[in-house]
Amino acid sequence: MLTKENAIQNLDELIKRVEFARLQVSGHKIVQIVGVSKYNTSEDVTCVYNAGQRAFGENKVQDLKSKQDELNDLPISWHFIGTLQKNKINNLIDANPTLTHSLDSLDLAMELDKKLAQKNKTMNCLLQINSSYEDSKSGVDPKDAVEIYKTIQKECSNITLKGVMTIGANSENKNEIMKSFTLTKEIFDQCPDATICSMGMSGDFELAIACGSNMIRVGSGLFKKNEDL
Ligand SMILES: *Cc1c(COP(=O)(O)O)cnc(C)c1O
Repeated sequence: MLTKENAIQNLDELIKRVEFARLQVSGHKIVQIVGVSKYNTSEDVTCVYNAGQRAFGENKVQDLKSKQDELNDLPISWHFIGTLQKNKINNLIDANPTLTHSLDSLDLAMELDKKLAQKNKTMNCLLQINSSYEDSKSGVDPKDAVEIYKTIQKECSNITLKGVMTIGANSENKNEIMKSFTLTKEIFDQCPDATICSMGMSGDFELAIACGSNMIRVGSGLFKKNEDL
């Protein structure tokens, strides 16, 4: 279990590093932090919440729902960051996340839009880009991304596209990771009205911010326990 001191120390350290990284880019740059709580309990989330963090992300619809239920007295902004199975769409709509980062195909967007329309709801989403061309990763092909983005904007009136998301290349090579972030930023710049560029995790958020990220998703770095320090 995360202690109060752990949570404060983790969040302080994270904010300091984010501040340093964003100031290298511009003093006007704002970077939002989403705490990824997928491997942690609601008690741990409460600790990090009490340290000051307000946005949290889950990668499974059922975990999102159960954390929301357990923590429904806290004004947390919940993000959905995981692969969305079509048979979970209705559950995700009912969970009403602040932002879904992982819209990863036109087909899924069409299906989500249809179900949103049936329920007379809307959802803020990011288009996930497979910027590292890894088979294990979800997301649209970078060369089709801008066109798919515009098609979703035109065809899916119940989806509000806010920008793009990517997971950096799974590599020890900084240049490889940077390439995937730079590519995603180039796509972001071409997407009409896009305001959120979600990239960077515990191991690579500084690089992501240097490449133009304005939203990072941090799990292990924010939830590390005493024994890991
Ligand atoms: C787990 C996860 C993260 C956080 O990863 P850490 O390395 O623990 O910071 C970020 N984004 C997505 C999509 C994830 O699944």
